[in-house]
Amino acid sequence: MKKDVIVIGGGFAGMVAALEAGEEGAKVVIIDRGSIGLGTNSALSNATFSSPTMHYAPEKYVRDTLKTGKEINRELLVRLMAKEASLGFSLLRSLDLELVELSDGYYVKSARPDLIPGITLVRALAGKIRKVSGIEVLTGLYVTEILRDGEKVYGVRGFDKTREEVSIYAPAVVLATGGAGAIFLRNDNQKNIMGQGYYLAAKTGLELWDMEFVQFYPLVIAQPGLPSLLLYPPYPQEARLINAAEENILKKHGLDDPNKAHVTERDRFSAILFQEGLKGPLYMDYRMVPTSRWKRHPLSLLTKIKFDFQREPFAVSPAAHFFMGGIRIDESGQTALPGLFACGEVAWGLHGANRMSGNALMECVVFGRIAGRSAARYALNCPTSLPDLKELSKGFSYDPSSSQGTQRKLQRRIREIAWRCTGVVRSEKGLREGLAEVKNLEIELKGIGPHTVHDRKLKQDLMGATFVLKAVLYASVSRKESRGSFIREDFPQQDDLNWRKNSCLTYDWEEDRFSVSYYPAG
Ligand SMILES: Cc1cc2nc3c(=O)[nH]c(=O)nc-3n(C[C@H](O)[C@H](O)[C@H](O)COP(=O)(O)OP(=O)(O)OC[C@H]3O[C@@H](n4cnc5c(N)ncnc54)[C@H](O)[C@@H]3O)c2cc1C
Repeated sequence: MKKDVIVIGGGFAGMVAALEAGEEGAKVVIIDRGSIGLGTNSALSNATFSSPTMHYAPEKYVRDTLKTGKEINRELLVRLMAKEASLGFSLLRSLDLELVELSDGYYVKSARPDLIPGITLVRALAGKIRKVSGIEVLTGLYVTEILRDGEKVYGVRGFDKTREEVSIYAPAVVLATGGAGAIFLRNDNQKNIMGQGYYLAAKTGLELWDMEFVQFYPLVIAQPGLPSLLLYPPYPQEARLINAAEENILKKHGLDDPNKAHVTERDRFSAILFQEGLKGPLYMDYRMVPTSRWKRHPLSLLTKIKFDFQREPFAVSPAAHFFMGGIRIDESGQTALPGLFACGEVAWGLHGANRMSGNALMECVVFGRIAGRSAARYALNCPTSLPDLKELSKGFSYDPSSSQGTQRKLQRRIREIAWRCTGVVRSEKGLREGLAEVKNLEIELKGIGPHTVHDRKLKQDLMGATFVLKAVLYASVSRKESRGSFIREDFPQQDDLNWRKNSCLTYDWEEDRFSVSYYPAG
């Protein structure tokens, strides 16, 4: 198959990029290992956008974003986001989505109170994409390689549900594969969001920036047997956060209100819960919340889950939520590899050391448009001649013995190492232990031959997950300070004099190791 633009990832960023590239007249294919829209992290979102409004000046929005990012964001990208925000909202309004204005942004009104708002958002986009004749949708295709010929990209390669190896050619590829939250034991992401995009990009030789910065969300359901659903604010006044001895955790640490702590002290809030959680389970107690409140958002979202939240406290935990680090792009969404563009959570630069709430979806819509438009213009203006393709159609040999059980055990170990060594609070000792453990685990993983397509997907996921985990460990051990989402108990202060810098990881595939460089932030 040959196209002008290939978009990898059917989340919000990828769908916006595909629509924009289609608008520019490019022939587009959007690929997802699952489906487009549903099944992505975007579908799980609260559909809340932070942005300048009539009452929130662009300059204040820029300053707040930089302040939350502890001043290591790329300011030119933040300013571009503020400038182009309204164009993103025009796109959403054209899809008949109802945008409700807040003092500091907008949210998309959910089609029903018991439906996660992100579902309404992604359904509208996926519905529109399916009606555009120039955009082909390929679902169930797992991309394993971005093809490059010398200095340029010329397509992607992967495998589909029927074991078939698939190559698709195009002069421009947009990477919109999301983050890697699901490499952590506690996370609120879709279970397969394990950093494939970072892995794919690094395999082409690209650098990874600021990988130590992972955002943790303070309150996620951790009750065994229940989905790890994020507990959306506002939290009812009557809610109590307790430990097994029924001690009020917030009071104990001088935080009176979870809603306030969530907005003004989210990192400290997560760190407190992380450390309390290491001592024993934590519970949310909604028993005193009046019955009438359960019909309204956000408590209405819990009514679909088979658990009596009104009568029983349930286990909660902080959880990995969002990756601030990733792939460097310029103002046109272009990476350092000609023809490769990136947008959404996989891209780096906007959020610095921590992300302002609502800025991830803002990033998807603004930079999705930019990347889609730039990729289309690039492709339509410089058609690529294809290299010899015969060489590419090598098959994949499956192993006759099933590997799923072993791989699931390795997955569990990866997630435990990630949580224990690169959770909210980290130390040099823990990080070095983590690096040693991952090294051993990687050797075991490499020795596994997948039996089915499912096993192969899992192996691919785990290869990506171990790679990303190594990147987070390595970047974290190298930064000798605490900043934003990142707390080093052995370096508890933010050190602007020495560390107002961005980290840049390069991977040497022959030597099998990372090296890190630092650049002054800005
Ligand atoms: C519970 C939750 C609530 C949130 N709420 C908000 C909010 O209200 N406001 C806000 O600003 N942010 C929010 N966020 C963050 C925001 O939702 C995400 O950062 C954003 O949706 C990411 O979008 P994306 O398009 O980059 O990636 P995703 O939506 O994650 O989509 C990426 C897609 O790429 C696919 N993919 C990956 N690798 C491959 C491969 N190799 N081959 C084929 N397909 C592949 C994945 O399967 C996935 O479908 C929330 C996040 C979570 C988890």
